[in-house]
Amino acid sequence: MRGRFLSPGARDSIAAHGRRAYPEEACGFLVGKEVGGIDTRGIDRAIATENAAGVDRRRRFVIPAEELRTAEARLVGTGETVLGFYHSHPDGPGRPSALDEAAAWPGYTYVVIGVRAGRADEPGAFELDAITGRLDPAPLDGPAGIGVASGTSAPHSERVYGPRPNEGTA
Ligand SMILES: [Zn+2]
Repeated sequence: MRGRFLSPGARDSIAAHGRRAYPEEACGFLVGKEVGGIDTRGIDRAIATENAAGVDRRRRFVIPAEELRTAEARLVGTGETVLGFYHSHPDGPGRPSALDEAAAWPGYTYVVIGVRAGRADEPGAFELDAITGRLDPAPLDGPAGIGVASGTSAPHSERVYGPRPNEGTA
């Protein structure tokens, strides 16, 4: 089964973090399992991180590379991996900005959620098309766990780390 599955727990965590961080951007990791390369991804949980942007956290977020390395190191041997990142757009749409696209890495799923005061929209998921450089919609099909009972993670060595794993502007 191909698809992207976001567990209700992960969805709730992302929405709650977005509401809590409002009016600043919330951000964090998407953690779960993948089967058959990246054909099927089950996002089981979301791990909140601090928004490390030095300025303008209402329109920017930064997740330091060290945070990603730490998160991935903790998951070694668990069958889970960091599948991507989420962040919120305070008073903005649940889709990536042009700068989100410019900062996106291939191979990761990006979840974006629009948040208004006290209320979070339904999150959207996107993945980079390496040819066009666009973050294309990767529709969320349902709860994690469907068809994701077992599987192998992509080798971590295939991932390339830069000084800024993820950085965007709303
Ligand atoms: Zn953004």
